[in-house]
Amino acid sequence: MDSFFGLSYNMNLYRGCEHACIYCDSRSSCYQMDHLSKIYIKENALELLDKELAGKRNRGTVGFGSMNDPYMPVENDQKHTRQALELLARYNYPVHIMTKSDLVLRDLDILKQLSKNYCAVTVTITTADDELANKLEPNAPSSSTRFEVLATLRNAGVYSGITMMPILPFINDTVPNVMEMVDKAKAADVQYILPYFGVTLRDGSREYFYKMLDKHFPGIKEKYIQEFGGSYGCNSPRANALYTIFHERCKLHRIDTRMKTFQPKKDIQLGLF
Ligand code: SF4
Repeated sequence: MDSFFGLSYNMNLYRGCEHACIYCDSRSSCYQMDHLSKIYIKENALELLDKELAGKRNRGTVGFGSMNDPYMPVENDQKHTRQALELLARYNYPVHIMTKSDLVLRDLDILKQLSKNYCAVTVTITTADDELANKLEPNAPSSSTRFEVLATLRNAGVYSGITMMPILPFINDTVPNVMEMVDKAKAADVQYILPYFGVTLRDGSREYFYKMLDKHFPGIKEKYIQEFGGSYGCNSPRANALYTIFHERCKLHRIDTRMKTFQPKKDIQLGLF
């Protein structure tokens, strides 16, 4: 089980992602996607899911949103995420959804139903600044919209928080940005924030990211090359200071910095002896 997000299974009903975030790891060559924005719909995914769920004994948490956003625009018409959630609710599976989209609110009825067992919705927000977010995540809803989504989820009683990642070195790794995001999270009644003050880059994702740095942030690519070379993990040079400020601010606002994961009820076993 993934101890950070509490996932036993990962579900990708689509291949590719329309949100086009400039730092997206799904562009990495190891995933062999010809183009991130080319969306493939896995037509028989729901049929397969139904069969899988019927045969499984371990009701571990099913995660949505690792390789693409389950609520990208194509989901508006396709409704595959919604149908998968309906199936998971029917089989009483715990669910953890990661998204940047307000489309998740369309499924509030099912999220509330899933919450009787376990349902977490984690919204990724990397900056409090809508203009900057538009450069980093051009096709995703604005950061302001995402904070509103969180407030609505919380009002409905859904367990929800933020993945504050990636925080890009030399771009959004600033004290005011981190403070403002934690304060806005508090205003939205967010229950947890999971941070990473850095970004991961691999062959394929690095080239695209550098191209976008040249377009939107001239001179920053050179800083990355000098500081990180070809490293996978590119931690902010300010990471230590940011973690300290982040934890202090979260403590002040009583926001958890880890999420509560699904804990299966222990079987009551009869002792043989
Ligand atoms: S929403 Fe996630 S999967 Fe989609 S482009 Fe952005 S980082 Fe990649």
